Amino acid sequence: MRRQRSLKIVATLGPASSTYETIKALFEAGADVFRLNMSHSVPPHDDIREKHQIIRDLERDIGRPIGILADLQGPKLRCGVFANEAEDLVEGQDFRFDLDDAAGDAKRVQLPHKEIFEALEPGATLLVNDGKIALKVKDCGDDFANCTVEVAGKISNRKGVNVPDVILPVAALSEKDKGDLEFVCSLGVDWLALSFVQRSEDVTEAREMAAGRAAILSKIEKPAAVDSFDSILEVSDGVMVARGDLGVELPVYAVPPIQKRLIRACRAVGKPVIVATQMMESMIDSPVPTRAEVSDVATAIYEGADAVMLSAESAVGDYANEAVGTMNNVAIQVEQDPNYRKVISASRTRSSATIPEAITVAAREIAETTDIKAICCFTESGSTAVLASREKAFVPIIALTPKVGTARRLALVWGLHTVVTNEVARFKLAVVSAARTARRYNFASEDDKIVVIAGVPFNTPGSTNILRVAPVDEKMIFSAETE
Ligand code: PEP
Repeated sequence: MRRQRSLKIVATLGPASSTYETIKALFEAGADVFRLNMSHSVPPHDDIREKHQIIRDLERDIGRPIGILADLQGPKLRCGVFANEAEDLVEGQDFRFDLDDAAGDAKRVQLPHKEIFEALEPGATLLVNDGKIALKVKDCGDDFANCTVEVAGKISNRKGVNVPDVILPVAALSEKDKGDLEFVCSLGVDWLALSFVQRSEDVTEAREMAAGRAAILSKIEKPAAVDSFDSILEVSDGVMVARGDLGVELPVYAVPPIQKRLIRACRAVGKPVIVATQMMESMIDSPVPTRAEVSDVATAIYEGADAVMLSAESAVGDYANEAVGTMNNVAIQVEQDPNYRKVISASRTRSSATIPEAITVAAREIAETTDIKAICCFTESGSTAVLASREKAFVPIIALTPKVGTARRLALVWGLHTVVTNEVARFKLAVVSAARTARRYNFASEDDKIVVIAGVPFNTPGSTNILRVAPVDEKMIFSAETE
């Protein structure tokens, strides 16, 4: 199955999407990467293990690499659970947070973060559920905070809590995160998302623990991360614009310019960027999106994001498939717009003077100026394919790799159709393999031509140094004079 768009779609799994049938339906609707949210899982993580197995089974049955992104909770503050799962907080009422792990009720709930109570002061604001509920601290001690509800709303199990006006001395990876990181890396995930990154050292610490078992994606959701973005990007493999917490920690109208800046910076260095949160929020309980949501997804595409993400829409929503399908349709529509091509081309940044970059620029230029049906790149580590994607050519890009882990990671990257192939020892065999793949997935037919790029000798990551415009017809490949 091939997608009719370059944008990638990330769907978060949850109670509404936890069986083989529901996850398969999401894939068929257009999801390319599935997100496992570790915030809602505790050891021994049977729920995560089951979903992971279902995705790998689905991948085998469908025959196409699927990415898995495990999202670590990070030092995100969350309340405990309620005896009735949720409570309505009314403006002006008293509500208490404490360290008691007994189930909460309409008067109190656990806030299992001792460090908050140590840092809180009367007058501080606590925001719950993406800032929808606001409470003002009346008095507090080492293990409690008595508050008054200032903005009413529904509070439910493990909702996020932000304390925007207090600097919290929290470690980048909590003990839970360290355990979860080890668990998901040994299970075998492709991307590891780090929540509440504040500085590049946070990313480096996680990278050392992951030890190459997963690519590292930094979620930008703290003002400190926005301030240190360049150094964070340098040590990350990808970025998520985590607009939920970002729009709570900062004024919500500060988010769009930050989104634009982050996407631009990621495009410049060729690292994938996901735009996340509230993209199709109304579709949690409505079969149709708002016009504003459609426009928001379209904006992210025009800005050149690699992927857009669904959270509650696919995890707990009633219309998960429709939400994925809507994103898919928006992407198809935008990508056909001649203006989209102009906008993307005009915002393309100059590549640096390396041979791999020169080769990928040349591949795009050939595809733009002649009738080439696909750019096929052989890639070990994925770096050649990511460079080809960065060029944002408007022909399909097929990434061929002998490494299934590379193929799965690349599932997140704009425009890449990833295929696991046998190891090839000679460039001519790589061309044959590319031609067969282009035919097999209907990217090209017998009379067409493709561009093939690779690094020769093979098995040397980052060595892209060869480009050939090749016929798809195998007899013609073999009759050519080249190696
Ligand atoms: C966000 O805050 O936008 C986000 C994606 O993080 P999470 O859903 O894990 O809170």
